[in-house]
Amino acid sequence: MPSFDAGLISRIQQANDIVDVVGEHVALKRKGREMLGLCPFHDDHRPSFNVNPGKQIFKCFACGAGGNVIQFIQMRENLSFPQALQRLAERAGIKIDTRPKTQDLRPQTQDEADPNELARVNNWAAKYFMANLAHPEKGKDAREYIAKRGLTDESVKKWRIGLADGSGGDLLTSARRAKIPEKLLAAAGLVVGSGLSLNDKFVNRLMFTITDVTGRVIGFGGRTLTGESAKYINSPTTILFDKSNALFGLEHARHQIASSETAVIVEGYTDCIMAHQFGTANVVATLGTSFTAGHARILRRYAKKVVLLFDSDVAGIEAANRALGVALGSRIDIALANVPEGKDPCDFLLAQGKEAFERVIENATDVFEFKWTRLSNDLGREQTLAGKKQAIDEYLDAIATAAGAGNLSPVEKGLIINRLSRIMAIDAKDVNAELTRRMGRSKTASAYTNTAAPELGEGLSANAQREIIEVLLAEPKLFKYVKDEVTLQNFDIPVLQKIAEAVFRTIGVNPEATVQEICAAVEEPQIAGLIINLEDDGVKKGNFKQRLDDALAALKYEQQRINRPTLKPCQNPRGLGI
Ligand SMILES: [Zn+2]
Repeated sequence: MPSFDAGLISRIQQANDIVDVVGEHVALKRKGREMLGLCPFHDDHRPSFNVNPGKQIFKCFACGAGGNVIQFIQMRENLSFPQALQRLAERAGIKIDTRPKTQDLRPQTQDEADPNELARVNNWAAKYFMANLAHPEKGKDAREYIAKRGLTDESVKKWRIGLADGSGGDLLTSARRAKIPEKLLAAAGLVVGSGLSLNDKFVNRLMFTITDVTGRVIGFGGRTLTGESAKYINSPTTILFDKSNALFGLEHARHQIASSETAVIVEGYTDCIMAHQFGTANVVATLGTSFTAGHARILRRYAKKVVLLFDSDVAGIEAANRALGVALGSRIDIALANVPEGKDPCDFLLAQGKEAFERVIENATDVFEFKWTRLSNDLGREQTLAGKKQAIDEYLDAIATAAGAGNLSPVEKGLIINRLSRIMAIDAKDVNAELTRRMGRSKTASAYTNTAAPELGEGLSANAQREIIEVLLAEPKLFKYVKDEVTLQNFDIPVLQKIAEAVFRTIGVNPEATVQEICAAVEEPQIAGLIINLEDDGVKKGNFKQRLDDALAALKYEQQRINRPTLKPCQNPRGLGI
C-alpha cells in the first residue's frame, strides 16, 4: 500500500517529465511519437528502450523493464518507492514532509543510509568547502594556486571547487553546529575514525565536487596543497559513489557528448575543467582509475566513440590492451591519443589553445590500429618474416582473448575481421580462420539477463484474468462492465491480483486514469514493468469489448465449476444426459 497521498504522487510525477528524467541517463532520439535509446537496465546493443512522452511511461522491448518516472528512478538509482518519490520531489523543488508516515517496506538495516540524505549532506559539504575557498584569509593560498593553473572564477563556481580547511576537524565542528549527525558524515565518507579520534577526511586540500549526471553531489576529490605523498584522494565508496563507475563532469558534458557522439576521457579534474573552460565540452575525467567497462557502459548511452587522451607517452601497450578489451566487450569505438610536448591536457590547452587540442583529439588512433602499430614496430623491426608472424600471432591472441569476454555476434565478428584484415593487410578469410581457431568454440552470445518474470499462470482462468487486466489497461472506460461482475477474489494469480488491485483502485476513482497513474499505485518496479507490458499487449490485440465479455464469461464458468459440489461419476442423472 503506498504510504503517500495520491495527489502528492501525481504532483511529483507531473513536475518530472519522463523524457527529461530519462534523458539525463540515456541519449534519446525521437522516432514518431516516441523516443528511443539504449536501455540502461540490460546490456543493450540496439536501441530497445522506448519512452512515450504522451503516456509518460518507459518500456524496454528486450528486457521487459517498464514503468513510469518513479519506477525509472527506483531502478536506476536503486531506491525504494518513498526514496524515489523524495528524490523526484527534490529534483522538482517540491517540499514534502520529511518522512512518510508508514516506514519503507524494504527491510532497512541500521547502517543503511538513505541515498537522498547522503546527497544532501554532500551538498552541504560542497557549500562548506566553497565558503572556505572564498574566505579572505583561509582561501588565499588555494586561490593563488587556482589562478596559477589558469582556472577562471567562472569555472571555480561552475565546478563547485572548494577548500578543505588546513586545521583538521573544522568540517566536523561546522557540521555539529549545523546539527548534521556524525553517522551521516561517516556514511558520506567526510570524516574518518570514531569517538574521540573522529576527524575530517580531507585536510588542507583543494576540493573538486563530483556530481552524477543529474547534478547530485556524490563525492569529492581532494588535491593536496602541501605536497603530501598522496597527491589526490577521493571519497571512499559509498552507496552513492563508486569511482570505477563514475565520471567527473558528465553532468556538464552529456549534451555535447550526445550531439557529437564522441566522449573524450582525460585523467585529471583540472584537465577536464580546462577543456570546458576552452569550450570543448564533450570531455569527462576518470577518477584516478583507468577506463573501465563500467565507464564504457555509461558513455555508450550517449556516444558512439570514446577518445582516451593520455598525458604524453603514457598510453603504452598496457593501456591499449585494456582499451581493446573494453572496446570489444562494450561495443564502443575507442581511440587513443597522447598530448604532445610533454604536457598534460590542462597545460597544453593554456599553451596551444582549443584548436590544437581538438586536432589532437581528431587525430586519435583507433585502438585496433594503435595496438597493431605498436606490436609491429616492436616485433617486426627487423622486417623478417618471423618477426611479422610473431606480431600477427600476438595481435590475434590479444583480440581473441578480448573478444571471448564480449561474446561477439556473427555480425560483430565479421565487422572486426574486415577491420583487422585492412589493418594487417592480410586476406579476411585467413584472419577469420586464425581468429576462429583462437577463439575456440566461442560461447554463444548470452541471452539478455532478464530477472525472472513473475509467474502469470496458465489455463482458462489465468488467461481470463490476464485478458481483463489487458483490456482495462488499454481501455479503462470499460471498467463499468467489470466492477459488478468480478471482485479481487477472482484474481487468484498473485501478481495478477496485485495488478488488479492497482487497476481497480485507480480506475475505480478515476475512469480516465492513465497507465502511468496505475503504475504509481504499485511500489515494485517489476510489477510496473508487467503493467506496461500488459497494456502494450492489450492495445495491440484491440477488440476490447468482445475480449472482455469472453474473459468475464470464462471467469464465471470457472467460478461455477469450483462452486459445484464434487460429483461422483454416474450418480447424477442430469449429468448423464449431457
Ligand atoms: Zn532493457
